[in-house]
Amino acid sequence: MSLYLGIDFGTSGARAIIIDEAEIIQWQKNELFLLTKVKSLAQMWQDALFALLVAIPLEMRKKIQAIAINGTSATVILCDKFGHPIDEPILYNDARGKVVKDEIKSIAPFNHTVISATSSLSKLFWWQKQNLLSQASYFLHQADWLAFLLHGKLGISDYHNALKLGYDVETLSYPDWLKELSCFSLLPEIFSPGYPLDTITHNIAHQFSLPSSCVVCTGTTDSIAAFLASGAKYPGEAVTSLGSTLVLKLLSQTRIENAKFGIYSHRLGNLWLTGGASNTGGAVLQHFFTNTELETHSQKIDATQESPLEYYPLLSLGDRFPINDPSLPPKLEPRPKNPVEFLHGLLESMARLEALGYQKLQELGATHLTKVYTAGGGAKNKTWCKIRQRHLQVPVFSSLQTEAAYGTAILAKGSDPI
Ligand code: ADP
Repeated sequence: MSLYLGIDFGTSGARAIIIDEAEIIQWQKNELFLLTKVKSLAQMWQDALFALLVAIPLEMRKKIQAIAINGTSATVILCDKFGHPIDEPILYNDARGKVVKDEIKSIAPFNHTVISATSSLSKLFWWQKQNLLSQASYFLHQADWLAFLLHGKLGISDYHNALKLGYDVETLSYPDWLKELSCFSLLPEIFSPGYPLDTITHNIAHQFSLPSSCVVCTGTTDSIAAFLASGAKYPGEAVTSLGSTLVLKLLSQTRIENAKFGIYSHRLGNLWLTGGASNTGGAVLQHFFTNTELETHSQKIDATQESPLEYYPLLSLGDRFPINDPSLPPKLEPRPKNPVEFLHGLLESMARLEALGYQKLQELGATHLTKVYTAGGGAKNKTWCKIRQRHLQVPVFSSLQTEAAYGTAILAKGSDPI
């Protein structure tokens, strides 16, 4: 039996999932990062990676054919020529790069993804401002560095992680405006996500009793890995994430970019994963209801009847998608006395916004919507699912799997669509 290992590095810990040829989960484990003042973040990642490998039952380890790792998008690390970090990694949501925004704006094309305080490129420029680049040989993403620990190759990344660095996923090359930078030599060579790069090093094979033929593949980002886990494969299939916010992702034959609405596309083989995110979502529900109330009240809603309440459920001013208006006020009135009616209004309104979001993506040229998978805390709500189906007018399912580590194991196995 051949096995495939996917490892997801999140914000508080890492999770490993092993699947077989039939993509059935054979083993999984979580490992929380042990936050101590004495250890660097990179050391904690390494400890978590090795702890997961050690935890795999020996009989299984021997059958692992390929490994892939996903990291949080735009979590980056600066290394010397041996791959040793020369500063603490900068996390995905760290906005220290705001001080270099004007500099980046002056070289990048108008409205480019890199023009953001949290983009990978902003973090590289911030390190440049600290005069740290002269000691550095490689600028890597979290997933690249962790894969290096296994295959021993530095200066390698994938085009999902490299999107926020400015890599051109259409032409599969770095654009000239990046090539002209003095720090360009630090940037990684880019491969397709899931590319079987090399076998593990002898040391790793020996240390963890893994087969020396075990291949380490290039990785991906957490959100793409979660999409790969969902089961969506064909153009027109989408995944809605009903977490704290509402995030839509539609697999399309065409690429959609629209900075005004915060819409951009990741490349997925010959397809495009187009998406947008709204500030509406579960955080608003959580503001008014406990999880138990969400369940009990939802059961009392007649999902076949449309609620007349037309809300724009937000907790603070402004949204970008599907309506782009930074000063858009939350609309949560009129509020009926009956909490079941109020919840019905909220779920109905979010379903309208979800449908409007998919309509927007299609208006901008994305492939016609055929099927929607659902992930996130709201996915278990059957009433909401029925309401959404009424608005979306396509079949709505729960995602087959929601763990990013599962999607990354699929990537290691080398399955479609990449
Ligand atoms: P995050 O985006 O923070 O990872 P999760 O995917 O964990 O979010 O989902 C958490 C959200 O799910 C909460 O904001 C909560 O309101 C929502 N949620 C939990 N249970 C239900 C339910 N039964 N119906 C609708 N929403 C729910």
